[in-house]
Amino acid sequence: MLKTDVLIIGGGLAGLSAAKALEGKKSYIVAERENRPGGLSSTVKKGGFHFDYSGHLLHLRWPKTSKFILDALGSNRRRLRRDARVFAHGRWTGFPFQANLAPMPQKVKAECVSAFLKAWRAGAGPGDGSEVFSRWTRRVLGEGISRHFMLPYNAKLWQYPLERLTTEWCAPFVPMPRPEEVIEGAYGGRTEGLGYNTFFHYPKRGGIGALSNALAAGSSGLRLGLEVESVDLRKGVAQVRHFGPVHFKRLINTSPLNSFTAMCSDAPAAVKRAGAALRHNTVYVLNLGARGVRQELHWGYFPGEGFPFYRAGLASNFSAELAPRGCASFYVEFATAGEALDLAAAEAAAVKGLRRCGLLGPGSKIVEKLWLKIPCAYVVYNRERAAALPVINSWLKAKKAQSIGRYGAWKYSFMEESVKEGLEAAGSLLAR
Ligand SMILES: Cc1cc2nc3c(=O)[nH]c(=O)nc-3n(C[C@H](O)[C@H](O)[C@H](O)COP(=O)(O)OP(=O)(O)OC[C@H]3O[C@@H](n4cnc5c(N)ncnc54)[C@H](O)[C@@H]3O)c2cc1C
Repeated sequence: MLKTDVLIIGGGLAGLSAAKALEGKKSYIVAERENRPGGLSSTVKKGGFHFDYSGHLLHLRWPKTSKFILDALGSNRRRLRRDARVFAHGRWTGFPFQANLAPMPQKVKAECVSAFLKAWRAGAGPGDGSEVFSRWTRRVLGEGISRHFMLPYNAKLWQYPLERLTTEWCAPFVPMPRPEEVIEGAYGGRTEGLGYNTFFHYPKRGGIGALSNALAAGSSGLRLGLEVESVDLRKGVAQVRHFGPVHFKRLINTSPLNSFTAMCSDAPAAVKRAGAALRHNTVYVLNLGARGVRQELHWGYFPGEGFPFYRAGLASNFSAELAPRGCASFYVEFATAGEALDLAAAEAAAVKGLRRCGLLGPGSKIVEKLWLKIPCAYVVYNRERAAALPVINSWLKAKKAQSIGRYGAWKYSFMEESVKEGLEAAGSLLAR
């Protein structure tokens, strides 16, 4: 019978960071169902290309976790200034759209600026997050910016009615310009530096998986290919597929909260119901390797109807090592509400769209492709989520279990936040 002080479900960045903090201090097992560590922060090699699960860039904000991540990468890292753009009304402009309206047609520009100023004069505060997205964006950014970017882009991304999507996630992710920045961006030059991701770090070699691999390399308790099938928190025992029971004193979960509550055999009916009410979208990432590409940009946003994908980027502009010499690599992101994507049709639309916006030029040729699916990609913020989380979290607290990371905590978060939560979860166990 296998026994451990701490069982960690999932070897993504949250689980690996918790493991690193526990190393040598408590016995632990990280059960990771895949045969590689890293979860979403991993990299797949194909035909000389390194493909991530779409762009995975390190936007570091906090000193302790920045140091932890940069130390793990050692010299294998580079700091880059973002070159992100938006393709709207048949032309490119800078990101964020709301502060870079200059290239837009006169009518669109005037509509966006005047409605923004009207919203501003009305004293639009950020709100408390409970307001629904469709109303919030019109109230704080005005009708024009909402109609030409915020509504179509977010409808494509979330695949959920924007009249029911709440806005707790918006503060860190939606740049809020001042009136002078909107006017300057519309009638003056390009507005740089707005938003959370002006600069980012990225590994020089190996894709974002290099970070996960570096953390995994020092982990004595990481067990790949172990899928946890059920958990009894009262008895402190987990059943692992093809393996049997693992007894634990404490549990840290990083697997998606909806499937975790479903597999907890001792969860009360109210907790199971709360878990079943959680919603998410699914993202399909088409990675393409190409020859003959001459483009500087890092990534672009596509609000327009003629583009079935919401974002596309040039990964080889983060690191030339991701593609063989003379080649470039793209990622193109499609979201669905969970239904299967018609891959052949999506691929044809992706290539057509990349040619239409000029990212693939007349002389460029696709030489490699790889579809990657992220079944649970963006968790949906709705009233059901707001009601479910306190029910689940108070039960977990009573059982002295922790559920962390982007999916364990069921939030729109980023890699550094998963690292932070992993370190904090381990820290709280060590402090007891
Ligand atoms: C499309 C997209 C783009 C993104 N871009 C960025 C970006 O540019 N920058 C950024 O900072 N963040 C980005 N993120 C967010 C980032 O991917 C996550 O914040 C981070 O990787 C989450 O790490 P985690 O450990 O919390 O979860 P995960 O990476 O999901 O790890 C959880 C692990 O648990 C394992 N698991 C699940 N169930 C079980 C089970 N029953 N038994 C055993 N193992 C199990 C999974 O296999 C997985 O390895 C992006 C996310 C998406 C979807």
